[in-house]
Formats: sequence, C-alpha cells, structure tokens
Amino acid sequence: MNATSFRGEPRRRGPAWDIAVVGGGMVGAAAALALARAGFATALLEAREPSPWSVEQEVDLRVVGLAPSSIALLDGLGVWKAIRDARSGPYAHMHVWDAESGASIHFDAADEGRDLLGYIVENNLVQWRLWNALEAAGVKRLCPAEVKAFDAQDDRIQLELADGQSLAARLLVAADGAGSPLRKLAGIETRGRDYAQRAVVAHVRTERPHQGTAWQRFLPDGPLALLPLADGRSSIVWSLPEEEARRVLALDDDAFMAELGVASDFHLGRIVGTTPRAAFPLKLQLATTYQAERFVLLGDAAHAVHPLAGQGVNLGLRDVAELRDTLVAARDAGRDIAAPHVLRRYARNRRSADTLDALGFDALARIYAWRSPPLVAARGLGVRLIDRLSPLKRRLAGHAAGL
Ligand SMILES: Cc1cc2nc3c(=O)[nH]c(=O)nc-3n(C[C@H](O)[C@H](O)[C@H](O)COP(=O)(O)OP(=O)(O)OC[C@H]3O[C@@H](n4cnc5c(N)ncnc54)[C@H](O)[C@@H]3O)c2cc1C
Repeated sequence: MNATSFRGEPRRRGPAWDIAVVGGGMVGAAAALALARAGFATALLEAREPSPWSVEQEVDLRVVGLAPSSIALLDGLGVWKAIRDARSGPYAHMHVWDAESGASIHFDAADEGRDLLGYIVENNLVQWRLWNALEAAGVKRLCPAEVKAFDAQDDRIQLELADGQSLAARLLVAADGAGSPLRKLAGIETRGRDYAQRAVVAHVRTERPHQGTAWQRFLPDGPLALLPLADGRSSIVWSLPEEEARRVLALDDDAFMAELGVASDFHLGRIVGTTPRAAFPLKLQLATTYQAERFVLLGDAAHAVHPLAGQGVNLGLRDVAELRDTLVAARDAGRDIAAPHVLRRYARNRRSADTLDALGFDALARIYAWRSPPLVAARGLGVRLIDRLSPLKRRLAGHAAGL
C-alpha cells in the first residue's frame, strides 16, 4: 500500500518518519518532544485534541506529584519553568501515618540536602505545555488520528489510520494509556490485579494550611492523600472499595466534607469547602513485555500502578528518558534504532525497574490492608523502625525522587 503523504512529511529514502508516537498524554507528548529534540524525525498521533489550559480555569481535578527525575526531564525539554510558574504546588515534606497503629513516617527535603521533594501539578497543564512545544521542535502533530492497524516490515512499520490514511516509520512508540489499543493489536498481554477500588478525587479547603506537605493517612479501606495545591487548597486522592466510593460520590457536599474530616483525622482541621468529585478505577497492570517488532510500549500502556506512592507518571517519564538515551546510542553507533537488540535493552531495563516499583507499591497496599491486631502491631513497629533508620529512609526518599 502506498502511504498518503502528510503535509510536512520529511522527503527522504526509507520510511517518512524515524518514530511515530501514538498517544499525546503527558508521557507520549514528552516522548515525542524528547525524541525530536534528540534529532529524530518524529510524528505524534493523538485521538483527541487536548483541552487548552488557562490560569482562569478551575484547577484540573487530575493532578500528579512530579518527582525530581521528572522535573529534570521536563526542564531539559524546556517546558518545566512554564509549568512551574503557571500553577504548581511545591512540597518539602511528606507525612504518612497509619490510622490503626498510629505509627508515622516523615520525609523532609532538607534531610536529603534538597529544597523540595516535588511539585503537585495539573495533568492538563503539563500535557498542554508539552503539546504546544511540539511543533517548534519539528514534531508533526496528527490529531484527531487513531491507529487501527499496523504491520512491521523489513525497514519500517506501516500504520493504518481510522480515516483511511497511512504512515510509515522506523519505530512505533505506543503511549496510548492503560487501555492501550496498540498493546492489544501487538498481541502483548498484561498481568496484575484489579484492586476493586476507586480513587475519589476533589480539591478541598481545610481549616488549617497544608504547610507545603503531602499528607497520607492509611485507613483499613485504602489510603487517603491530601496533596498541597498552589492556591492553599489540598487535592485529595481517597482510595475506597467500589461500593464505598459510589456512596461517597453520591453524598451532598456537607456530608462529604464531614466524612472526609473524620477520614483525615482532622489533621488539617475541618474540611470547609469542596469541588465536585470524580473517581478513577484502580488496578495493577504490567505488560508481559515492552517490546514487539519495531514497536515499544511506555507510560501507562506498559504499567498501571496504585496511586498510593504517586509514581505512575514519574515511571512513565523515566521510560521516556531511557528510550531516548537507548535510541540515541544506537543511532550514534550507526545501528537501526528499531533493531531487536536495541529495543530489548530499553524494554529489559525499564520493565525490571517498573516491575520492582509496581510490586513494591502493591505490597504496601496489601500490608496496609492488614486488620488483625498482631499484624497491625508488626506493621506499626516496622514503620517506626524505618522512620528512625536514617540511611534506609534516605534510600527510600532517593528512590522515590528517581535519583
Ligand atoms: C487518582 C490518580 C492519582 C494519580 N496520582 C499520581 C501522582 O501523584 N503521581 C504520578 O506520577 N502519577 C499519578 N497517577 C498516574 C498518572 O495519572 C498516569 O500514570 C499518567 O496520567 C499516564 O499518562 P500516559 O500519558 O501514559 O497515559 P494517558 O494519560 O492515559 O494518555 C494516553 C493518550 O493516548 C490517547 N490514545 C488512546 N488510544 C489512542 C489511539 N488508538 N490512537 C491515538 N491516541 C490514542 C488518549 O487520547 C490519551 O491522550 C495518578 C493516577 C490516578 C488515577
């Protein structure tokens, strides 16, 4: 089949593009920008135009805590300062405590020799800033564009789009989210488990200030996080069993705020204001491989994790950095960037790192679900020990920072 030429398609021998990235969420948009900046002819295909972000709008209900490794990547791509200055909630402390045993652990940026542990930012803001940097970096944005099929050949991978057009690249990068249609088309399976929980999210105003601290209380039903927003409010991520989540979503604002106050143990005082609420299903899902012929997975398409450690997009942005570095090394050594051994290096490195993290977060979710008194006592002892063992605590903090 002859590929229809898109306006702006590079004229050269072989496939028109070095890399086609599918999915323009935070991870796919960062990948396209990083790969274009590294000198690869890159096209980005996204099914839905991202909604514009503006400071006049209410804060997006979906926020993430960006770790230093993610901030370093975004800074290297030239978008971080614009994101930070637009609207971001810096935090220098993290306080985690167990409702049952009362044991707590406290992380302080100063103990790590840093000013901050990270920033809370809106998903929509990060995506929008990345999206707007793409064209100047030479990325061809195709939107709306949906990939219906692809076929790996000797020197290229041929993509067929829903509107009948087609496109050829050396490598297809799938960053199309946890439901990844491309992962399914590639025949890659996933392993994991459904937590049978939903994360209820909202932005709330509390009686006392958040003190630039990310708070997390582990309750028997699931963790409740209160993350510091730039405007003084806290963004909550309240993981609850499906039915509880449905009930909490249906409460009126006053009843919701009263229940949330109890769940947070009134740590920041009473809850005195709330936005409408939304909820997201939670699952652990790991692709059995991140690689197929001329094809790699990254971001949530490769791994979906419990939000209790606030690491999902941070892992995805570490995939981006590893993929870029692997492809640059292959190109500089005169190799085919999509040769199986090149992709294997990326796939192995990231899959083993992501698996360790994902299983670690899953173990935490299981340990905090323990209810029997001896196990709760053992958990409390373990948490108190970690809090006092500075070298171990420092390693944990360094790992979360991606350093
Ligand atoms: C409640 C909650 C709290 C969280 N908190 C944190 C946190 O504090 N820190 C953190 O690091 N992470 C957090 N996460 C995880 C984080 O939100 C995700 O890891 C991240 O959004 C995944 O980004 P992505 O770009 O991989 O996927 P997505 O954001 O899902 O983007 C996928 C994109 O692909 C597009 N697409 C899909 N199919 C096609 C197709 N066929 N063709 C073209 N385009 C397609 C979609 O339109 C979409 O734009 C949280 C998640 C939840 C649910």
